[in-house]
Amino acid sequence: MQNISFTKYKTSQEIIKAANSRPDAPKLFVETYGCQMNVADSELIMSVMIDAGFAVCDRPEDADVLFINTCAVRDNAEQRIRNRLQALAHLKKKKSGMLFGLLGCMAERIKEQLLEQEQIVDIIAGPDSYRTLPALVAKAKEGESAVNVLLSREETYADISPVRKDTNGVSAFVSITRGCDNMCAFCVVPFTRGRERSRSPQTILDEIRQILAEGYKEVTLLGQNVDKYNWNNEEVKFAQLLKMVAELDPQLRVRFATSYPQDFTDEVLQIMANHPNICKYIHLPVQAGSTRMLETMRRGYTREWYLNRIEAIRKFVPDCAISTDIIAGHPTETEQDHFETLSLMQSVGYDYAYMFKYSERPGTYAARNLPDEVSEEDKSRRLDEIIALQSKLSHESNKKDVGKTFEILIEGESKKSKHKLFGRNSQNKVVVFERKDTKIGEYAHVKITGCTSATLMGELIEPN
Ligand code: SF4
Repeated sequence: MQNISFTKYKTSQEIIKAANSRPDAPKLFVETYGCQMNVADSELIMSVMIDAGFAVCDRPEDADVLFINTCAVRDNAEQRIRNRLQALAHLKKKKSGMLFGLLGCMAERIKEQLLEQEQIVDIIAGPDSYRTLPALVAKAKEGESAVNVLLSREETYADISPVRKDTNGVSAFVSITRGCDNMCAFCVVPFTRGRERSRSPQTILDEIRQILAEGYKEVTLLGQNVDKYNWNNEEVKFAQLLKMVAELDPQLRVRFATSYPQDFTDEVLQIMANHPNICKYIHLPVQAGSTRMLETMRRGYTREWYLNRIEAIRKFVPDCAISTDIIAGHPTETEQDHFETLSLMQSVGYDYAYMFKYSERPGTYAARNLPDEVSEEDKSRRLDEIIALQSKLSHESNKKDVGKTFEILIEGESKKSKHKLFGRNSQNKVVVFERKDTKIGEYAHVKITGCTSATLMGELIEPN
């Protein structure tokens, strides 16, 4: 088999082309669910498999090996994946020897049970075992059990160059940490992704140099809790890493996710304030508004602490947009707790929020110790109230932008009209405008002329 040389500045598209030109290479299809970390992991998986001699294809029906990279954060995410597996089952009947692999958090959570429950799954691989995927495929081909769900304390995949197949060519994700040590009561991530680990700054910077060479204009540094980035006993912490990345190229936009209120420092805010290319947007999950509820959730901070972090953001980076995550109906949540969530949302004035009903995850602290007693009816009503308030707050935030001019990085064509393009401003808001002579991947200046709660609309203007 012809090997692909992953030389330093070879683009993902060139690597895929070379991989697909190898005669008789078995074909791989990867489908991804869940968070941005999973998107980044699928790019690593693609790299490992191409290196092992696979070609990649765009349709599940063309695949010899089909991987589903899964999410276990909520029960309905798992249900969706089970349904998808059933919907794909007919492909195996048509194509003898086709193999299905279930990868990622759901694989880690349910492990071998999946082989029995879902008769169509041949390979199970957790998030720390992607290097072993070619060997697992070989085992499955021989009809042997192919399971690797070992979690590692060291694995960061630092030396693997991701192959970015399904991207817009403008924004790329780069993982800087893996795992999480926080153990929030409701969260399954520490069980599926293991302990916190940081990747070496050198490999992160090298990867970003490579994406710059490929023409990307924006990078998002990823981790379950980026603020805990810690290389070599605090020789490099997140603030320093962020500075190093921002100073690689002033034309590169830098984003990061996710921040954690307990660990989010003023030092990071100062670096943001001093570097115009670090986007003025912070995702700071609060989850609930009352200190009592935050204690029950084992978040490690109080309402006052959180509001102090918001004040710090407003002080150091006054034009910063803020988004959050909120859970409605966590075990023991009372009407008073819910009211405090609404009042906190109101006083922060979030620009955007990801809002969910509590979903019990087996094995978590909450599942073991806190009965899921809030009624379905209360959960749904509280969630509706949270969504209604956020929609109002998002609209108010967007209305304040009407009349302002923003620099937009253009990401793609508007879904509604091919005469329009869309991009994001530094605050991560989506802006739609007439395309004129502009192209995807360019920066443009757009004056905002109108808005909905989700989108800003504007017109191109000449920069001064
Ligand atoms: S910080 Fe909490 S919610 Fe976030 S991944 Fe870690 S345990 Fe889960």
